[in-house]
Amino acid sequence: MANNDDIAVGIDLGTTYSCVGVWQHNRVEIIANDLGNRTTPSCIAFTKTQRFIGEAAAHQAALNPVNTIFDVKRLIGRRFTDSTVQNDLKLWPFKVTSDHTQRPKVVVDYKGVEKQFSPEELSSMVLFKMKEIAENYLGKSIENVVVTIPAHFSDSQRQATKDAATIAGLNVLRILVEPTAAAVAYGLDKELTSRSAREKIVLIFDLGGGTFDVSLLNIKNGRFEVLATAGDTHLGGEDFDNRLVNHLVDEFKMKHGKDISQNAKSLRRLRNACEKAKRFLSQNVVATINVDYLYEGEDFSSDITRARFEDLNLDLFKSCLETVAKCLKDAKMDKSRVDDVVLVGGSSRIPKVQQLLQEFFDGKPLCRSINPDEAVAYGAAVQAAVLNGAGNHHIRDLVLLDVTPLSLGVQLLGKKMSIVIPRNTRIPASKEMTYYTSEDDQISVWFPVYEGERTRSTDNNLLGEITLCGLPPAPRGEVEVVIRFNIDANGVLHVTAVCKVSGVKTDTTITGDKRRHSKDEIDMMIQEARMYRAEDENFKKNIQAMNDFEDYAYNMRSAIKDKRMEGRKERAIEEAIVWVKANRSAEANEYEAKKQELRAICSSRFGYFIANLKLPV
Ligand code: ADP
Ligand code: MG
Repeated sequence: MANNDDIAVGIDLGTTYSCVGVWQHNRVEIIANDLGNRTTPSCIAFTKTQRFIGEAAAHQAALNPVNTIFDVKRLIGRRFTDSTVQNDLKLWPFKVTSDHTQRPKVVVDYKGVEKQFSPEELSSMVLFKMKEIAENYLGKSIENVVVTIPAHFSDSQRQATKDAATIAGLNVLRILVEPTAAAVAYGLDKELTSRSAREKIVLIFDLGGGTFDVSLLNIKNGRFEVLATAGDTHLGGEDFDNRLVNHLVDEFKMKHGKDISQNAKSLRRLRNACEKAKRFLSQNVVATINVDYLYEGEDFSSDITRARFEDLNLDLFKSCLETVAKCLKDAKMDKSRVDDVVLVGGSSRIPKVQQLLQEFFDGKPLCRSINPDEAVAYGAAVQAAVLNGAGNHHIRDLVLLDVTPLSLGVQLLGKKMSIVIPRNTRIPASKEMTYYTSEDDQISVWFPVYEGERTRSTDNNLLGEITLCGLPPAPRGEVEVVIRFNIDANGVLHVTAVCKVSGVKTDTTITGDKRRHSKDEIDMMIQEARMYRAEDENFKKNIQAMNDFEDYAYNMRSAIKDKRMEGRKERAIEEAIVWVKANRSAEANEYEAKKQELRAICSSRFGYFIANLKLPV
């Protein structure tokens, strides 16, 4: 149980941007990072000398595209052979390979050595950054968090996200789905959290950087219930950027007769410019894209109108509406019954998207009262406070109800999927099914567990397998095996199998899932994460010591300029300056020693003079 004195935060771990919020003084505060931005790029970079996370990583992306990692959320909890992973690979400038169990690994060059990181480790780095941002602001250490995930995340993606938090040294109070979090932000704003508020049906339209999610919720008496979800795991701002990039690559070819499409650095710079232009076009009707020295010394400049941008993306924008229709259909809800359509995600700011959506709902005004970039972290912060025992009467009684995004079942003879828990079942959930032996004197059963909607089990996603041994010998069809599926509040599945006759029982967790990291592996990753953080700290210390030494040398030089100092001192100062320029990556103690040496020379016999100087600390 969480301790009341501890502060718990809510983290929206986004595909492109992450955001952290905390409940304090009876309201949520979204915490700005060290650059003053309220969202932080979900980006990690490795260089010859150090590791960067967040803003600093995104900032150097164009210079170091192959070692700058983003979109990790697209990889987490997936198999390397997944078709989505295979398609993404083609677009990423960084390298991804597979380990012997088909888990994806991102390959980077860190300090001149090839390193491989799992998506869990990379996500843990972003989570740790968000934790740090919160800690700097709150002035105390934080362990307890609520982390959000898309509603469509499968069991393995949920597990992997939880593992990422563990590796970051965080204690996950709850994994919360993003639409529910956003609905909480909306509900608080509209004062729907009290018991007396009228029931409302709300559609959350979340168009982010890499994914699109639609959820229908019912809010009643402080209860938030997801009725249905639908989405596209591969639709978002990055796709709109891509369309613009491709368009401009063609334009560059026409104007200059050169193809930049194979040059990762040029593409990255063009993409950054496109993303900025796209944002600008949400407010203005024309944007100018300017990139100096884009390729082989050629500058590039182009004007793009909002109409042209919309035209390039119209099919993608329209596909959003099909997903909205599907979600309503799944929930058997007519669109006229929706009380409010809530815009979430940075890309929901695009005017054309808003226009199409409003038309779809027959002109109904869209709800714009909540901040689309922050709503998810806002709701997560509220949930964190509730679970932590903090929070006031407005939120204390909130009940957040989630559903399973995919059907869960076991494979029967002939690869038939037998569903135990259908999709869109409210969780936590527990259900059992009885199966019978298929052969005479069968002494064991083996069954794989799948998630998905296809009738042939192998078309679905394998979660693991269970074996039950020690069945009593009997003719086929006479021995009963009861399989129980249990989904906890985080949406994580536990399966048990019991033979009624003999009473034999299996393990309670799914065993055979090779994609999941074992406890030992996680422990090792925790150790490694600590080591990397220590390295980051050490790097910071070295740089600080270097600065310190260089600063001292320059200060001395300017201080003695107009005094007639002995040549020996001047020489020592000049030597120090030359040395520090040539030695940018020494250890802190080396700089400190050099500084002591210089200080000793400079202060000899001129002690009175030095004492009047103000030294940098
Ligand atoms: P995620 O949760 O997927 O990380 P966000 O909800 O933070 O994503 O949205 C990020 C996306 O929103 C990026 O692709 C960004 O370019 C886009 N975006 C942000 N602001 C605007 C805007 N004003 N107009 C258009 N797109 C925007
Ligand atoms: Mg998001």
